[in-house]
Amino acid sequence: MSGRRIAVLGAGALGLTVAHRLTQRGDRVTVFEREPLPGGLAAGFEIEPGMWLEKFYHHIFRSDRAVAGLIDELGLGDDLVWPRPRTVTLRDGRVHQLDSPASLLRFDPLPIADRIRMGAALAYLRALPEPARLEGRTAAAWIRRSMGKRAYEVVWAPLLEAKFGAAAEEIALPWFWARVHHRSAELGYLRGGFQRLYQALADRVRDAGGDVRLGVEVREIATADGEMRITTGDATDRFDHVVSTLPTTLTCRLTPQLPDAYRERHDWRRAYGAHCLILSLDRPLTDSYWMNINDPGYPFLALVEHTNYQSPADYGGRHLVYLGNYRPMDDPLLRSTPEEALAEFTPHLRRINPDFDPSWITERWGFAAPFAQPIVTTEYRDRIPPFETPIAGLSLANMFQVYPHDRGQNYSVELAEKLVQHLGR
Ligand SMILES: Cc1cc2nc3c(=O)[nH]c(=O)nc-3n(C[C@H](O)[C@H](O)[C@H](O)COP(=O)(O)OP(=O)(O)OC[C@H]3O[C@@H](n4cnc5c(N)ncnc54)[C@H](O)[C@@H]3O)c2cc1C
Repeated sequence: MSGRRIAVLGAGALGLTVAHRLTQRGDRVTVFEREPLPGGLAAGFEIEPGMWLEKFYHHIFRSDRAVAGLIDELGLGDDLVWPRPRTVTLRDGRVHQLDSPASLLRFDPLPIADRIRMGAALAYLRALPEPARLEGRTAAAWIRRSMGKRAYEVVWAPLLEAKFGAAAEEIALPWFWARVHHRSAELGYLRGGFQRLYQALADRVRDAGGDVRLGVEVREIATADGEMRITTGDATDRFDHVVSTLPTTLTCRLTPQLPDAYRERHDWRRAYGAHCLILSLDRPLTDSYWMNINDPGYPFLALVEHTNYQSPADYGGRHLVYLGNYRPMDDPLLRSTPEEALAEFTPHLRRINPDFDPSWITERWGFAAPFAQPIVTTEYRDRIPPFETPIAGLSLANMFQVYPHDRGQNYSVELAEKLVQHLGR
């Protein structure tokens, strides 16, 4: 379909990679993005002019070859750095390193027999090359049986509940396999922020003659007279083909012509929103990059001290701390101001570092996003839509099609490459 007019909805990792590849092969591409900046969930904000930080903590793993390859291709590879930051778990009021088999053996909130059992179960998942035989089973039940109830309650239930809330018991075992199987201790970061990747992609698309329209929300997707029509606030544009990278449920809402049978099968609405309060401090809060909060009673699930991973010097000497949450999309936290979130969170920072004083905080920012975490139950796989929809000119590629891996920039890039191949030349 070379040379055709193609609309790409969404300028996140997926939409921009699709647009980049389509312009490379000569299609006339228009990208529509609701936000004023490209990057979607991985977008950044400017702490000060020219200094970018992600709105939500981001790193990549060694196995994330598709996104690492794209970073290289765009000439940014020299700035992709791979430190091995400290990852810890807060349990029983103490901080425990828990990021390797050796640290698991020292993890004393569990009796030694449970540590060995957990190590063996994790080794099994790491060795299992693919998860077909795990389909149809839940992570919670498998973990309880293979690692024991205590290991589930102390280590895994807090993580599953933090990410999936009331659905923690329903999460598919292959999702858990992927999390264990593919993670590296070295974590990749694009110095200067992943925003550089998305800006570079948008620039490439424009340089190749594509149109990237930022701050333009799509209101309707329709087909008529053999053409596709995209309606935004002020106009309707016509295309030969549309690729929507919006969550499936949003595409369904925007496309009244999609049949009911398609919606019943594929309109997966179960997702959580994400919230991050970011604090800039005049000194470090902890000595770790990533802290899973496995003690009850905290109003955040993870404390991610970015400047224990990247140098504070890259941020004008600031010490930057994310306090992260996944919540139902109607949760008041997602609509709170940074001041409201800070008032709720501050007393708990003292539980983590008793010396902490609010006067250490010099700046604060709050960000929330809907549809940030699909709820991946055992039913999920069968509900994933294919690229093609019942509307001939509408293809769908979005992070809700990522399975069994946890969604991530890499999998959106992979999916984009597959979609472009699928569309053919
Ligand atoms: C808290 C958090 C932490 C994360 N950590 C990591 C990490 O460490 N490493 C990693 O690789 N990934 C991480 N991710 C996941 C990663 O951000 C996503 O998987 C990836 O960015 C998804 O890209 P996408 O293009 O598929 O979707 P999105 O980024 O969601 O892009 C969809 C785009 O569509 C736009 N849009 C929606 N509706 C409309 C409309 N009506 N009209 C026009 N545009 C519209 C949106 O604004 C958005 O830009 C994290 C995500 C969150 C929330």
